[in-house]
Amino acid sequence: MTLTYDPQNIFARILRGEIPNKTVKETAHTLAFHDIRPLAPVHILVIPKGAYVTFGDFAAKASAEEIADFHRTCAAIIAEAGLDAGYRVISNAHDHGGQEVPHYHLHILGGAALGPMLA
Ligand code: IMP
Repeated sequence: MTLTYDPQNIFARILRGEIPNKTVKETAHTLAFHDIRPLAPVHILVIPKGAYVTFGDFAAKASAEEIADFHRTCAAIIAEAGLDAGYRVISNAHDHGGQEVPHYHLHILGGAALGPMLA
């Protein structure tokens, strides 16, 4: 499985400011924005600014500072979105995971009962 990063993927273009996005939060290492096709009342994508393809790629190669910044940003978003009743965090990877955009991202979903994970 190749982890070659395609700098023309849509999230790389969002990071370069070539495509607009509805930003939720931005930090030194992380950007979060609303998904363009929301699957729940709250559907936020969180991406590192670095060029990583999947969860595994990010976890293996990113610095401790990037990893901490990314996850603290996720926690802040969850708190600020008022998802006290619950939420789901998903990351799709490669073909079997159904990954559409080859830049690592987490989906934060909530705002309603989400049902079984694979329904
Ligand atoms: P994946 O299957 O985990 O790669 O999901 C990619 C997600 O990116 C999908 O939920 C899309 O709706 C979302 N998406 C694609 N293009 C854009 C965009 O330009 N802005 C915001 N979300 C996008």
